[in-house]
Amino acid sequence: MSDDATAKNKSPLAGVSLTFLAPADDAQTTPSAAASPDARSGEPISARVVIVGSGPAGLTAAIYTARANLGPIVIGGVVGGGQLMITSEVENYPGFPDGIQGPELMGLFRQQAERFGARIVDADVDRVDLGSRPFRLWAAGVEYLADSVIVATGAEALWLGIDSETRLRGKGVSACATCDGFFFRDKEIAVVGGGDSALEEALYLTHFASKVHLVHRRDAFRGSKIMQARAAAHPKIELHLNRTVAGIEGKDHVEALRMGRTDEPGEETIPLDGVFIAIGHRPNVAVFRDWLETDEKGYLRAEGATTASNIDGVFVAGDVDDHRYRQAVTAAGEGCRAAIDVERWLEAREPHETEKTAAGATTSR
Ligand code: NAP
Repeated sequence: MSDDATAKNKSPLAGVSLTFLAPADDAQTTPSAAASPDARSGEPISARVVIVGSGPAGLTAAIYTARANLGPIVIGGVVGGGQLMITSEVENYPGFPDGIQGPELMGLFRQQAERFGARIVDADVDRVDLGSRPFRLWAAGVEYLADSVIVATGAEALWLGIDSETRLRGKGVSACATCDGFFFRDKEIAVVGGGDSALEEALYLTHFASKVHLVHRRDAFRGSKIMQARAAAHPKIELHLNRTVAGIEGKDHVEALRMGRTDEPGEETIPLDGVFIAIGHRPNVAVFRDWLETDEKGYLRAEGATTASNIDGVFVAGDVDDHRYRQAVTAAGEGCRAAIDVERWLEAREPHETEKTAAGATTSR
């Protein structure tokens, strides 16, 4: 989202064909819930593995499990594709030396999964019952019965929720310094937040920006002491404590930040080129909360060095269990790990059944 990128893309999705959201022509390999013959019959749809989520983790798991002849069904969400669907230029995903638009990258993930026979349903999971096998999941009025489940529902960045932030998202407003920092070389920017994410992003962004304004609503940071000390001592970082974001100015791209005060009346405006919101993330765990263990931050918990959850046969992958790295490439890697864990788990449980179903899946396609 450099000025370059901003100028090129009036919106983060401008000029990108949204193959991800387009209904698939080939109903054999890509049925929607409504188009599926099984769904029309009102009967539950059975699968060896159901993957919930269609970001890099979910679709990588789909590629691997499809190639293992497990006939995966991906319940990908009404708005699938994850966080990359709201990212403009992606320059750090390996294999794309000239960068690629986030939605285009996710369209390619989807094509690759469908090529091997993954069935992708553009619906949200409303409810699950993981109490016994087969596991039961409901989405858009259709019931799915799954021998195994991969949960790859991701995490959402929290936003301030003001109009100007929404309007200028992808046009100078970002929630990912690692993704977009590079575009602000020699520019003046602000980071909003007072936790470790904000402190870390402010420090990281000093590698690119000429100046970083760190804006926090209280007079004390929530983040760790060492990070606070580093930020306070950094010559490129200016602290603005007791400040709220009253508005982000600019028509087609960010031009200034308007700040209110929490300690006294008054407002001030700083001209700048970018605003990074770093006020935390929320993992998308709602339908799984009653079943799967979460850590103290609310993220799903994987057991040991694998992707296994606390329920035998349910695996977790991607940002929903990772508050540390949160990158497309790490999520894709986790999707691969979960797929391999599922394949081994199914094989260990019912080796003959796996072969039989796999053969059936192959001939039916
Ligand atoms: P966090 O600790 O929850 O901090 C969120 C910050 O944003 C707080 O300072 C909060 O202000 C502020 N905030 C929240 N909503 C706001 C709003 N609507 N308007 C303005 N400010 C708002 O989140 P985080 O920084 O993402 O960290 C999450 C967890 O990950 C933490 O446990 C953190 O230690 C960990 N983490 C660790 C590292 C590291 O070790 N390298 C890096 C990043 C994150 P208040 O303080 O006033 O509530």
